[in-house]
Amino acid sequence: AVIVIAIDGPSAAGKGTLARRLAAHFGLPHLDTGLLYRAVGLKAEKTGRPPEEVAAGLDPADLADPELRTDVAGQAASKVAAMPEVRAKLLDFQKKFALQAAGAVLDGRDVGTVICPEAPVKLFVTASAEARAERRYRELRAKGVDTIKPRVLAEMAERDRRDSERAAAPLKAAPDAYHLDTSDMDADAAFAAALAFIER
Ligand code: C5P
Repeated sequence: AVIVIAIDGPSAAGKGTLARRLAAHFGLPHLDTGLLYRAVGLKAEKTGRPPEEVAAGLDPADLADPELRTDVAGQAASKVAAMPEVRAKLLDFQKKFALQAAGAVLDGRDVGTVICPEAPVKLFVTASAEARAERRYRELRAKGVDTIKPRVLAEMAERDRRDSERAAAPLKAAPDAYHLDTSDMDADAAFAAALAFIER
């Protein structure tokens, strides 16, 4: 059977890891929708072109930039993500990805609410602000980034606030989403819990 899995939640809650593992398990293609916003934010900042124009002309090569994983790109993404024109330009690509014949796993902020409300499986992945900041801090340190935890926590809080309070597709759970709080779970436990829900 065709399966579409929509995964939403705030930053560093464990969506990406879970999405990749579910995609591998079911043999489904995976789209990290945040990458699209990161690519638009970064390219608009670098070129000075209007973000909606960048979104309209987004190239697959733009999604391969290693800089997309940085927090600078994350903040730039969350700014352009508040613009309805940018969201509209990226909608079609995401919908097509979700509706391809093989099925798909998509993770982001509005997959279950806007991109694919008809997805049979919707997961809303959260974790406490402390747990998320701790994870992000460790990730950054592992990459050799020199930072301190209070700064990571503050930047995360700022991005979460912008993502939840914006008018255009704010971060929220679909009414029928399964809520998974990963504060006290490692990646294996989160995967097992999601799988148990999907195969219920
Ligand atoms: O998930 P990630 O941290 O890569 O997302 C970067 C930013 O892109 C988010 O903070 C959010 O503002 C935006 N985003 C969005 N809708 C999505 C995915 C990401 O608005 N579906």
